[in-house]
Amino acid sequence: MTTPTLPPLREVIARYGLNASKALGQNFLFDGQLLGRIAAIPGDLHNAEVLEVGPGPGGLTRALLAAGAKVTAIERDRRCIPALAELGAQYPGMLHVIEGDALEVDAPSLFAGKPHIVSNLPYNVGTALLVGWLTAAEWAPWWQSLTLMFQKEVADRIVSDADDDAYGRLAVLAQWRSTARIAMPVHRSAFTPPPKVMSAVVHIVPTSAPEGVSVTVLERLTAAAFGQRRKMLRQSLKSVPGALAALEVVGIDPTRRAETVPIAAFVALAREVGRSKKPPSAPTE
Ligand code: SAM
Repeated sequence: MTTPTLPPLREVIARYGLNASKALGQNFLFDGQLLGRIAAIPGDLHNAEVLEVGPGPGGLTRALLAAGAKVTAIERDRRCIPALAELGAQYPGMLHVIEGDALEVDAPSLFAGKPHIVSNLPYNVGTALLVGWLTAAEWAPWWQSLTLMFQKEVADRIVSDADDDAYGRLAVLAQWRSTARIAMPVHRSAFTPPPKVMSAVVHIVPTSAPEGVSVTVLERLTAAAFGQRRKMLRQSLKSVPGALAALEVVGIDPTRRAETVPIAAFVALAREVGRSKKPPSAPTE
């Protein structure tokens, strides 16, 4: 299919009255080259299913469609819907727009296969969406990869390692059964209006999950440990049943602080806590 000629995004914004709303985290991207580079991060998207959260006036959506993707987009701002319908008319059958709140929509049910998720996320719900995608009970998850724009400070928290200033719960959740990297820094001046801080696109790909570890237990441990990150583990993990005994079993010094404990050690701890909670199996005849 030949790429249709589309009106400049600034013209679409003016025509549909899409002046940016701060409450909806609207910072738009207009640079077609930059958008094309973001759409290329997941790899070949020809006929691939893609979920985009917050298409807004459709800049990234255009790049995804031009790459051959079948895009399902969830947008909360109803002012954007007619502009997206106009774009969809240029790509028959390739763009499905849902008006709604991405935190409420049952996204997995929208796809027959496993979509790539590609999005310039609204900053106010970005972390909540990411945590939801990373804590899927089933692994491999319902999505193939995540290509997501965040404020640089959040991107650093996602890709950091133990002993980095940014290391915390997000790093553990993003890396214990996925790889996470910063694929592209994005200057604040690329956005309209420009936000106060720099941004970066993070690329996350699921790997196999370590055996015998429940995401719920891991979440509970990291929430407790990093909730009081300056405290020693023997203090911060008191509230998690079995955690203090598990520290000893797996050989983690209880006087350490969460920020010094590598992801693999949190995984071992979660496995031990989960194991110790299980009732002993019935004796076999
Ligand atoms: N994709 C466009 C771009 O790159 O220019 C817009 C990105 S803008 C940072 C975020 C978009 O998410 C806005 O269009 C906003 O209306 C939308 N949005 C905000 N909260 C949302 C939510 N809870 N669910 C779905 N979309 C939301």
